[in-house]
Amino acid sequence: MISSPESISVLPNAIEEVHAFWIAGGSCDGCSIAAVGASSPSVEELINGTLPGIAKVVLHHPVLAVNAGEEFIKPFRLAAKGELGHPFVVLCEGSIMDESLAAKTGGYWSGLGADLDEFGDPQPIPSVSWITRMSEHAAAVIAVGTCATWGGVPAAANNPTNAASVMDLLGEDYRSSLGLPVINIPGCAPQGDNITETIASVLLFLHGLVPLPEFDELGRPKWLFDETVHRGCTLAGYYEEGTFAKEYGDKECLVEIGCWGPVVQCNINKRGAINHCGGCMNVGAPCIGCTMPGFPDSFAPFYKMPPGTQVSSTISKTTGTLVRNLRQMTQAYHNKTHKWIEEGHVPSGWGHIEQPSLLDKITHYAYQKLQYKGSHKPGSNN
Ligand code: SF4
Repeated sequence: MISSPESISVLPNAIEEVHAFWIAGGSCDGCSIAAVGASSPSVEELINGTLPGIAKVVLHHPVLAVNAGEEFIKPFRLAAKGELGHPFVVLCEGSIMDESLAAKTGGYWSGLGADLDEFGDPQPIPSVSWITRMSEHAAAVIAVGTCATWGGVPAAANNPTNAASVMDLLGEDYRSSLGLPVINIPGCAPQGDNITETIASVLLFLHGLVPLPEFDELGRPKWLFDETVHRGCTLAGYYEEGTFAKEYGDKECLVEIGCWGPVVQCNINKRGAINHCGGCMNVGAPCIGCTMPGFPDSFAPFYKMPPGTQVSSTISKTTGTLVRNLRQMTQAYHNKTHKWIEEGHVPSGWGHIEQPSLLDKITHYAYQKLQYKGSHKPGSNN
């Protein structure tokens, strides 16, 4: 945890540009795709400097760059030596693999650029070397995606690379040049706006324009990752009423076919995957916990009912059946005008509207008495 806000400084006011170095370790590049799909703010807005209060971001990204070779690598070298002449942030995508294991066979896991060895032959510079050296001078180090934040799929049990996270690499005592620990934006891949919004918030803070955004004890933006998937799920109503999907494609809650949403911290359902569209449960896919440090091992096997679900879904089915039936009865009455109820007939040409049975009427009467106990029911004389 950050000991005190006083231990953090901000950038000088007159900053015109902030550089952002994107460094990939063991990754699939999905986080890059997610970032460029962000819309609020977009990468274009950040690099064009059109956001009020935020300096233009000069992005150094191995896939998006128009320059190549030494011309591309030169700013990395300057930043690693603290000689860039501009403030910069390091954005890490992918897990940190143990390069000492690869070196034993003369290879490397992931790298960027090359240095000449003693024989004058170019040798790749491992990503981990860039991150270690550049983090010393960086205004902030931001781990993007679950591989960088926690280790992710490459760090699953029994992996051959001894993969780990940026936090594992830099350690709990790491502080950026302005006093920040590693910031973590998990997700496989993360929701794109989560990436750009966090970058924009940190830049606003570093410019001294807003207070330090709130991060949780694992360095996640608290406003994005404090709630569970379940709390924002469009299918949560089905869970509450105890109705569950039996197979993929069913419209109900997916918990019995493998959804971990009730315990997973993620906002994908609220935001959608991209531009407010899609998002796992919104398109029928159960949550497999990809934002969590325990992913993937703790959530495997995927698409199987999570342990504990039987208890909670049985409780939900029991109470939900009663609640659902009462709601359906109320709904049937609220789908009629006062006149139609009095006349006992709905003049619709679209279909026959069933009239309530005597039992329905008695139950509804008793239920309404309960609902309006102690208050006046609008439209009634008592
Ligand atoms: Fe919760 Fe998952 Fe069901 Fe959505 S689909 S309501 S997140 S258990």
